Amino acid sequence: MESLIKDLSEAYGPSGEETLVRTLLEDLIKEHVDRTFTDNLGNLFALREGPAPLLMVSAHMDEIGVIVTHIDEKGFIRLAPVGGLLPHLLVGQRLRFKDGTVGTVYHEKLKEIKELDWSKLYLDIGAESAAAARKRVEVGDLACLHQPFAVLGERYLGKAMDDRAGCAILLEVARRLPPELPRSVCFVFSVQEEVGLRGAITAAYRLNPGYGLAVDVTRVGDTPEAPLMDIALGKGPAIKVKDSSMISHPRVRGFMIDTAVAAGIPYQLEVLERGGTDAGAIHVSREGVPSGTLSIPCRYVHTPSEMVDAGDVRHAAALLEKLCATPWP
Ligand SMILES: [Zn+2]
Repeated sequence: MESLIKDLSEAYGPSGEETLVRTLLEDLIKEHVDRTFTDNLGNLFALREGPAPLLMVSAHMDEIGVIVTHIDEKGFIRLAPVGGLLPHLLVGQRLRFKDGTVGTVYHEKLKEIKELDWSKLYLDIGAESAAAARKRVEVGDLACLHQPFAVLGERYLGKAMDDRAGCAILLEVARRLPPELPRSVCFVFSVQEEVGLRGAITAAYRLNPGYGLAVDVTRVGDTPEAPLMDIALGKGPAIKVKDSSMISHPRVRGFMIDTAVAAGIPYQLEVLERGGTDAGAIHVSREGVPSGTLSIPCRYVHTPSEMVDAGDVRHAAALLEKLCATPWP
């Protein structure tokens, strides 16, 4: 899965601009499912047909990024966040647009660093004038962080582990599933999760699933003076109990735990005090969908270098494979 996660993490795909990621995923998954299709918002569906009820498994394609709000007469570009991104994380960072245009971020003169906000930040793409800048970038264009993927022993570092690690796990599981399934499974690669779980809303409405699962990253409590949280890298995927978007359905959560125990897969229980996943949208679709979330522990979520553990990724894929191939209670 390493090269898959590399390709997916390095791909350009801020919220609303998921086309390149979708093309990459569709090419890789189509031979492993009965059919693929997209909807009006750009969600990608990869369906394995079987008996009802359908299990919807969702991972989001979009990543956090920025949008161009203004270009000044000297060609400097002003930005606003798309998704949860702190301005001070961008100072000195490179950003990349869809056409490959790259720029570096710096800030205006500040008396104190705490004055730094989005209005003080600018992007320099090396243009000498507004006209020169506008040949490459226009107001409304989106950029993502520009960071290469790196392997650090058993750990992966990349700009978009959230949630391309999840996308890679869905793809890997689609490859491994047996010819006969106890029920239909639809892998959904959703759009616009980072700006409000929007793709998952229409995807769940369309599929009307019997069960829902999101596969996404979660925060950890294992770094120096981290907020208190009982999740660490390398101790297995997390089975979510609660986040800001959902209280996991007890039957789903219990089934996930029982499945992990039966298969000897390590897991952690997750309570995330701030944040949500696609399952937050799926579980309130129509008349309600019993849902859960399989989380990949991740350090430095929503920074240019998100870190996950390779063993956690492998165990998450193993658990998701079991969840897709076993009859649910
Ligand atoms: Zn995410």
